[in-house]
Formats: sequence, C-alpha cells, structure tokens
Amino acid sequence: MSTNRFTFNLFIIIIILCVVFPVIAQENPDPNRFQKEIEQFQAWDRKNAIPEDYVLMVGSSSIRMWQSMESFPDLKIVNRGFGGAHISDLIHFKHEILLKYKAAQCIVLYCGGNDVTGGKSAERVASDFETFWNIVQRHSLNTPLIYIPAKPCPARWHLWDEEAKLNAIIQEWCQKDPWLYYADTATPMLETGTPPDSSLFIKDLLHMSEKGYDMWTSVVRPLVDKGIRQHAEANLVLYEELTPTAFRKRIQEAPIAYVPLGTLEWHGEHLPLGSDGLQVKHFFEILASEAGGIVLPMHYLGPDRKKKMDGKELYGMDLGSMHWEEGHKYADQQFAGSAYWISEKDFNKILEATWKQLSRAGFKIIVAHGHGPSTGFASDRFGEWEKKYGMKFFHCWGHRDDEGLGIMVDHAGMNETSLVMALRPELVHMEYLPADTTHWPLGLGGKDPRIHASSELGWKAITIQKDRMVKMLREALAEFEY
Ligand SMILES: [Zn+2]
Repeated sequence: MSTNRFTFNLFIIIIILCVVFPVIAQENPDPNRFQKEIEQFQAWDRKNAIPEDYVLMVGSSSIRMWQSMESFPDLKIVNRGFGGAHISDLIHFKHEILLKYKAAQCIVLYCGGNDVTGGKSAERVASDFETFWNIVQRHSLNTPLIYIPAKPCPARWHLWDEEAKLNAIIQEWCQKDPWLYYADTATPMLETGTPPDSSLFIKDLLHMSEKGYDMWTSVVRPLVDKGIRQHAEANLVLYEELTPTAFRKRIQEAPIAYVPLGTLEWHGEHLPLGSDGLQVKHFFEILASEAGGIVLPMHYLGPDRKKKMDGKELYGMDLGSMHWEEGHKYADQQFAGSAYWISEKDFNKILEATWKQLSRAGFKIIVAHGHGPSTGFASDRFGEWEKKYGMKFFHCWGHRDDEGLGIMVDHAGMNETSLVMALRPELVHMEYLPADTTHWPLGLGGKDPRIHASSELGWKAITIQKDRMVKMLREALAEFEY
C-alpha cells in the first residue's frame, strides 16, 4: 500500500468517525429507568375502567405534574406523563402509554425539553417526534395530536435557542398536517420577559406553577375542543350525518357503500319490527369503522312470498302453513306491524336507481345485505350489476352460517335474536314469548331463541363475520388500488 493510499484511507476513517461520533454522543438514555412508572400505570388501569371518551395527555414531568382534572374539569383525561422522559422513551413504551389508549379523542403531547437538555440536536428530537407521530397515525386513525412546544424557562435558558429551533421545525409540520396542532404556549410566556417571568414557575424555575399551567390551559383548551370535534366528525359513518368535507375524506379512503336491506316486518313478539334493518345497520357501522366506507339509511321495502286469502294479501312469515320447518307450521294470518312488501320488479327498480346514484357519487364497492329474500334477490344479480355499474358487490353470508354464526341466517330464531341482543339489547323482550318451550312461538324460524339465544353468541357471530368481511373488502379495495 502506498503512503498516499494509506493517508487517503486514514482520511476516510476520520471522516466516518466525525459522522458517527455525534450519534454515539446522543445515544438514547436507557428507557428501562421508567419501569416502575410504567408498572404504576398498568396497576391503575387494572383497578380503573378506561373511560369511553377521553383525552390522552402524554409526555414528561410537565404533563405528569399538570393538575389536568382541575384544568379540564369537564373532560375525561388519561394522564400518562413521566418525569424526565425523552421522546425516545415514549416510543419505547408505545404499547403501554399510547397504543393502549388508541380510542382517545385527541392526544396532548409535551416532550422534547429533556431531549435537548440531554444533548440531542433539534433535528434529532424533531425526527423522534416524527417517528412518534407516525406510530399514532398507523394505529389510531383520526386522532389529532396537540403539540405543546418545549418551554422557555429560566433554569434552562441557555438551551432556549436549540429548543426554539425544535419548536420551529414542528410548528412548520403542524401547518401542513390537518391532524397536528401547534399549541403556541411559548409566545405568551416570552411576552412576560426573556427568560419568562419566574411567577410562571415553581422554585426550580423549570417546572410550571399554577399560574403557568393556567396560561398553558388557555392556549391548549381551544385546540383540544377542536381536536375532539374533528375526531368525532371523522368517525361518523352514517351517510345522512356527513358533511361534504367528511364525505370526501371517507370516500377517498375507502369508496365502500353499505346498503342495509331491511324490512318493517314481524320478527316474533320479542323483537322489534325493524330487526332486519337494525341488525345489518349496526353490523355495517362496525365494519365501516374498521374497513372504512359509508352506511346508507335502511331500505325497508323488500320482496317476499305472497298469497291472497279472504281478499287480503299475506306475506312471508304470515304464511305459517308454508313454513319450511316441520313442526313449526301454524295457521296463515296477518301478523301485526308488517309493512314492507314490494314486487321483485319494483324492488329491482329501487335497487338499480340506488346503484346508479352511488356510482355517480363515487362508490366502487357495494355491500348489500339484510332481509333474506331481498339479499337473495340482489345477490342473484350481482354479476349483471357489476358489468352494468362498474362496481363490485358483496353480501355478508358465508363462513359458519350453518352453525348459526352468520349475519341473519334465520327468522327471529337463535341467530337473529342473538344479534339483536348483542347490538340493541334494550329492544329485546324475551318475556313476550311463551315460557313453555314445547310451544313453538308464532312466526319464528330456526333454533329456539328461548333456549339458545344470547348476546355472547351474537358477538361471536359479529366478530367472525366482521373479520372475514374486512379481509374481503381490503382485497377488493386493493384491486381498485386503494
Ligand atoms: Zn330478519
């Protein structure tokens, strides 16, 4: 090796060391120093139920010491701050302090000051924040994040330039991302002096005093309210409740329309008359919140068997003499409340008009399901409609239907009763059925709901079918390149 070559290699090594060394100098502190705090959170969660609607506050000591119940008395706050935390610690404990609370309406984050104090550059901390934000977005769709900037304080005033640089980078991202909010708490603090007035801090001139937190609350609160509204709107799935803004967002993410084929039809003495539409509407809401898409209002007219008797028309379950199960037959009679019958020809017109409108509105996938004869009629025409309207059609019958674990596979028997018990328990009145189980209740088909129906069975069916449908819909979306 020539001397020149040797010098050149040495030069390269020095360059590499210069590049690598600062990274080593900024190595993350060991996250396991917080093991005890994390265990305390877990113990708290075991003893207390996580509320249904809540704001997650997460970060370092300024979050932990925030009397959040007093600052936000009307909100439910889950506070997962721990003193001394770097953003790298939040990332390390993401399952324990973030993903566990992915149903949060919005997230308030304060973290980054300790990172800069620990020698990390503004760019490095900002990049950690970006990683954290990516985790939030991947796991809890539609959750806005409110970023509280690193605070100017007398105790760390010598670091303010670097912190201000960090804040500026993140502020710029917030301006571009509609789900990120920059709560500019630093500006009003700096208006009291540079460094800010000591009355905003406790004795250590690092952590906030009550006065300091009041100042923060006045900046953060309006953004929390905005975030909660944004979260609520983004989680709406019922067509009739969407603004054009919410509609555009949902259809862009997943152009799926769910069409509940209901009826207003006798479903035994124990179930509501709208059972068909209700079961499938709520099932669709669950599907839409996972696979995306929009749920239409129920169609309550549907075809069925028909017979004329004494100048009256009888439909579907009215025809007890034609019951498909031996031993369950009863005299033909008009059941109370049924008002749904339409000829197949007219039903077809309604459906085709619906597909034409939905295709025009931008939908690519239709899930139509509900009342047996309606679903059967529609699914026989899926192939024809796919060609005519350029959309893909699905129903929800499939796997494990024969075990009663499908979506609507009997008539007010074990399956439908279990589904209504799961989805709308307050509407089920088992006490209206004859107690004597040797006596078959009028107008029911399937297994005896008095013996076999339960909300657990309903949820089991919903979970099985939801998972199957979500997979199928994701594959269909992929075909349309979503
Ligand atoms: Zn039904």
